[in-house]
Amino acid sequence: MQDYLIVGGGILGSTLAYKMLERGLSVKIIDRPSSNISSSVAAGIVNPVTGKRFVLSWMAEELFSALHEFYPRMETRFNTSFFYPYDTLKLFETTFDQNEWLKKNKQESYQKYIGQEVVFSEKLINPLGALKIKGSGRLDIGNYLTVLHQYFEQMECIRYNWFDHGKLKVTNDTIYYDDIRAGALIYADGAQASDNPFFNNLPYNMVHGELLKVKIHDFYTDRIINKGIFIVPVSGEEYLVGSTYNWDLKEAVTTGEGREKLTGKLKEVVKCDFEVCGHYAGIRPSTKDRRPFMGRHSEHKNVISFGGTGSKGVSMAPFMSDLLINYLHNKGELPPEADICRVKNNVNLKDK
Ligand SMILES: Cc1cc2nc3c(=O)[nH]c(=O)nc-3n(C[C@H](O)[C@H](O)[C@H](O)COP(=O)(O)OP(=O)(O)OC[C@H]3O[C@@H](n4cnc5c(N)ncnc54)[C@H](O)[C@@H]3O)c2cc1C
Repeated sequence: MQDYLIVGGGILGSTLAYKMLERGLSVKIIDRPSSNISSSVAAGIVNPVTGKRFVLSWMAEELFSALHEFYPRMETRFNTSFFYPYDTLKLFETTFDQNEWLKKNKQESYQKYIGQEVVFSEKLINPLGALKIKGSGRLDIGNYLTVLHQYFEQMECIRYNWFDHGKLKVTNDTIYYDDIRAGALIYADGAQASDNPFFNNLPYNMVHGELLKVKIHDFYTDRIINKGIFIVPVSGEEYLVGSTYNWDLKEAVTTGEGREKLTGKLKEVVKCDFEVCGHYAGIRPSTKDRRPFMGRHSEHKNVISFGGTGSKGVSMAPFMSDLLINYLHNKGELPPEADICRVKNNVNLKDK
């Protein structure tokens, strides 16, 4: 008998499973990896200050302390590299941006995350200068998941199959699936949550996104550049450029329109020549109020949701995994904004 059966081995399911194993819990993961699941496509950026108005992320202090402790510790544990702390240069597009930043950089809560000086760079088109954001970086999610999955294979706790909801039997204290018996079932099934018979009532707001891999010639930076799009260093001349947001496309397919949008914006940001060498698309498991969906099913208390991280899976995974484990073991509450109970209490979740 396992403590937990986890459906999904993307960044949420895998981080949660690893943390459970660390705490001596037994888990079985069922996952069908694919090249266009959200975790395979994502750029892996973490950034504490986002948006036009330079808003400090929800729970920034907790999320960023946890991720800056966890990912480097995992690199040491597995003797490899996948986390790259890069500052972000947020290019001002208008004088309104500059004014917003001037207001924010005086506030104490922002001091830790934003630089005090306006920065200029010769190779960027940014006459108004840029703000430096500290605490940001990139997780190479592909590498991180490869390492974790290899570990799960050694521990014999992962199976690469499609989880068939029809074969599942749930009683008050046991989950039955094929030969697996578990105390509880956790769904970390990403954008497939909308097909999940337990949680398909949750108001997800899935968002299609595309990004490009490009070679930018004679352009070296060890910072993430952000101006409507992001440019993030990968290796040598290679950078990821993203992302688009499309609420109408339901399939993870690349489009000519997405490619044009990204190359067009890139030309407005860098002065150097570039060539496209990769094009990817995925569906972000986003929610209407931009907060995750965590917690127990209202009727089947041993069926649990863990998803809805939208475009912030990397920053949320370490801290939210700890919160969920504590909650499941009666050692803590979920933040009300993340608890799926909010859906019952407020059926018409407002867009943020
Ligand atoms: C273009 C794009 C750019 C992004 N950029 C960033 C970024 O820079 N930073 C960031 O933090 N986030 C980014 N994201 C968002 C990020 O990818 C997600 O928040 C995160 O990956 C969600 O992880 P997950 O584990 O919940 O879901 P997923 O990564 O989708 O993993 C779910 C897993 O469950 C499996 N699964 C589902 N149902 C079943 C079943 N029935 N049987 C077996 N397996 C099943 C799937 O196959 C998959 O392997 C981006 C997303 C996109 C699309």
